[in-house]
Amino acid sequence: MSKGVLLLNQDYSPLTICSMEKAFILVFLKKAELLSEVEDQMIRTVTRVYPMPAVIRLFNYIHLPYRGVVLTRQNIFKRDRFSCQYCGSGKNLTLDHIVPRSKGGKSSWMNLVTACRRCNTTKGDRTPEEAGLLLKDQPHKPTYLMFLRDYSGSVRKEWMPFLQTRVKT
Ligand SMILES: [Zn+2]
Repeated sequence: MSKGVLLLNQDYSPLTICSMEKAFILVFLKKAELLSEVEDQMIRTVTRVYPMPAVIRLFNYIHLPYRGVVLTRQNIFKRDRFSCQYCGSGKNLTLDHIVPRSKGGKSSWMNLVTACRRCNTTKGDRTPEEAGLLLKDQPHKPTYLMFLRDYSGSVRKEWMPFLQTRVKT
């Protein structure tokens, strides 16, 4: 029950993960349709057995403002899976400007990475090349979907067809 239900907009774009209770209500009120059920799992009440929703779709399109991921310290840590992008350590994490601010480096998804205090101190006011450090991954700007898919930590297999189709966009 804890994983929740993937809620799709009318155009099949993923909106959010909602609770099982909310999904039931939306389907019951005919505001959404059941697209996919969780295999081999049913919800039993005293008198009835219901399929457990995995994916539902709204009948009416919802217009949403910007759905990007907000640039915050915590979200950068999340993107980098809470590990130093230079040595892989998960301890004493800080934010590092790849190109230092003193050299015109910006605070952006592409220029900020998670770094442990030791690597950050070693790097100092230099670029990774200058400091002889190597980035494990090229930083990227995450999309909302990537956060849903990669960082919710509990993605149902029934969600995948709906998430994958939109990742390209
Ligand atoms: Zn490090």
